[in-house]
Amino acid sequence: MSVESLAAAECIDVAAAECADAAPVVARTKAEVRAWVAEQRAAGKRVGLVPTMGYLHDGHLSLIDRARETADVVAVSIFVNPLQFGPAEDLDRYPRDLERDLALAASRGTELVFAPSAADMYPEGEPRVSVLPDEEIGGRLDGGARPGHFRGVLTVVAKLFGIFTPDMAVFGQKDFQQAALIRRMALDLDQGVRVEVAPIVREPDGLAMSSRNVYLSPEERERARALSRGLEHGRALFAAGERDAEALRAALWKALEVPGVQAEYAEAANPLTLEPVATADSGTVLLVAARVGRTRLIDNAVLS
Ligand code: AMP
Repeated sequence: MSVESLAAAECIDVAAAECADAAPVVARTKAEVRAWVAEQRAAGKRVGLVPTMGYLHDGHLSLIDRARETADVVAVSIFVNPLQFGPAEDLDRYPRDLERDLALAASRGTELVFAPSAADMYPEGEPRVSVLPDEEIGGRLDGGARPGHFRGVLTVVAKLFGIFTPDMAVFGQKDFQQAALIRRMALDLDQGVRVEVAPIVREPDGLAMSSRNVYLSPEERERARALSRGLEHGRALFAAGERDAEALRAALWKALEVPGVQAEYAEAANPLTLEPVATADSGTVLLVAARVGRTRLIDNAVLS
């Protein structure tokens, strides 16, 4: 199916003129993406990519806006990547709603949405070759808590970079370690993709937006504020002159001591290597992870 007829297929229920502006092309296969990218390149357009697992929220939409600042056309991928989930994790219940995602992507003028099946992304199942981070950046924090997670993330992002060959791609600071690893991957593997990292978008009460927030019951949603509150407190201590990273870590742990919240890590780290620091300075990142009920949440803040 050509790119034009794909776009038309998505326009069935919408007035044609309106649709031409608003509806993104929906690509289901890698071949459709490659054809679209070739058309864009032939027209001299710079392609921006925003990789996501869907169930879009304002955080994702801010990445689309950011891509639009440097790219001429913006593509969003929506793929719940089985390779980055552990066997006991939430792959099966991860929220999915493609129709809603398409409408949200359209509201920001997204030109193409790539929504492949797992069979299209991994035709032979488990790939024989994958991308592994080193232990220093990838083995601690989320890498320690979720063995194999970053291998799954880097492998799917490397595949998306291969499929799209985008000029640039945008990731969220929300997943700080992930963004640091993807930056390293683009650099170390000479992928030729400019990686940009956009700030965390939060709910009015401070909770970092996440597709997983829908899992939270009203009581859990209230308790989940402990993460951003702890980070705010850490930031305030730093602003008041605290430079002892151990004191900042202790303050984060204390903020996570809330009934129903099970802290996983609370760290003050170097933003490039994710190594724990002894002395905090401008650029040091505070990172927290905790379980609230069955839901695992992460958040972070860069000190300045
Ligand atoms: P996900 O769909 O959760 O895999 O996220 C896709 C991209 O959106 C990743 O680069 C995330 O870091 C980014 N992202 C997720 N939540 C937020 C947020 N609250 N603010 C900014 N970016 C986010």
